[in-house]
Amino acid sequence: MITIKDKTFVPFISAEAIQTRIEELAEQINQEYADKCPLIVVVLNGAFLFAADLAKHLTIQCEITFIRVASYTATESTGQVKQILGLNDSIEGRDLIVVEDIVDTGLTLFEVRDQLLAKGPSSIAIATLLFKPTALTKQLDLHYVGFEIENRFVLGYGLDYDGLGRNTPGIMVLA
Ligand code: 5GP
Ligand code: MG
Ligand code: MG
Repeated sequence: MITIKDKTFVPFISAEAIQTRIEELAEQINQEYADKCPLIVVVLNGAFLFAADLAKHLTIQCEITFIRVASYTATESTGQVKQILGLNDSIEGRDLIVVEDIVDTGLTLFEVRDQLLAKGPSSIAIATLLFKPTALTKQLDLHYVGFEIENRFVLGYGLDYDGLGRNTPGIMVLA
């Protein structure tokens, strides 16, 4: 159990279970991209540990790059808009694997995928460690999902609460 600021979190997915599942996902990617050289696009900050552990089990040739997604309010009518920061490489004709920590409403990845598609990649697959199916509000194909979880707030293994708690080897849930 850990307490961060005003909130208490209890163990939810163990470090061992995460590592076992990541090895399975990596094996799937190794098979499906055996004759390709994908560009792995890691969405910071939350996916940093997932991406690092996944990468260690990839035996294919691949490139790895990192982006951030910034939210800003463009106009009142368009609401929050996402901007991709840090994508300097050309992605035209590339096979992309976008690596995320968690898909909740799906709004972030929905927009990110749209913006990446506009740059002409040859394919885009999404790998997310966690997925909350009941929170999803957008039609979004997820190709590699670590764990489907219920709609509760989780923390650790890259995921934060108010900037804190990313540095735990397992995932915790709000008590
Ligand atoms: P979306 O709702 O757009 O799918 O998710 C946006 C972002 O919200 C995720 O990338 C993640 O940073 C954050 N998020 C969603 N659910 C959780 C959660 O349960 N715990 C934490 N720490 N962050 C979450
Ligand atoms: Mg994220
Ligand atoms: Mg966060």
